[in-house]
Amino acid sequence: MSRPVPGSGDGRPTSSSSSVPERQGGGIADFLAPLGGFGVTFATMFRKVLTEEYPEVKRPTEARYHGRHQLNRHPDGLEKCIGCELCAWACPADAILVEGASNDDTPIAEGGTGRFSPGERFGRVYQINYLRCIFCGLCIEACPTRALTMTNVYELADNNRGDLIFTKDQLLAPVQEGMLPSPHPMVDGMEERDYYLGKVTGSTREQEAWAHDHADEVASLESNRR
Ligand code: SF4
Repeated sequence: MSRPVPGSGDGRPTSSSSSVPERQGGGIADFLAPLGGFGVTFATMFRKVLTEEYPEVKRPTEARYHGRHQLNRHPDGLEKCIGCELCAWACPADAILVEGASNDDTPIAEGGTGRFSPGERFGRVYQINYLRCIFCGLCIEACPTRALTMTNVYELADNNRGDLIFTKDQLLAPVQEGMLPSPHPMVDGMEERDYYLGKVTGSTREQEAWAHDHADEVASLESNRR
């Protein structure tokens, strides 16, 4: 009967003498080895220090860095979000909450609730939970209106859970020059699709006059919503 050869696939370990490399060097090499290590430490002492002086000095991020989200506006100030919830469905971390509502062109004095976006619907409630968000960007890919984008803002630390759930008023883009804060009517003679075709370039005199005349009603609308 033939005997099994060690390490030939019969399940038994091979001889340890064949897998452990033999020790090289001798007494002097062992003595000098730590000095080589100290040499690396000594040389590093004279190199330029790479410490970032954060938060005093903030390094700019890469251009396409995925930071805090923003809900964008059209050039006249109406909101781009249509409350479709596609961003919430696309989110793998279940970090987004959206509740849509219908725009209402009934005069506010007659019980209307206002127009916040062109078209039929707008995002009435919008929240992002930054304790869950993994900044993957799937939400902004899912958004059909480019309402949701990501900024380069990365300072999102806090000391309590509640303040890391961002609400719509925190996420909505600021009102820039040429815009009016929503709600207000659409530009006269324009349809929803005209907004996406870039035909609206800013608020009009008619919209400004409407905002001026209805400032009190809009303010009461906002206080009722709180
Ligand atoms: S942000 Fe975009 S995807 Fe999300 S609800 Fe608004 S329109 Fe829809």
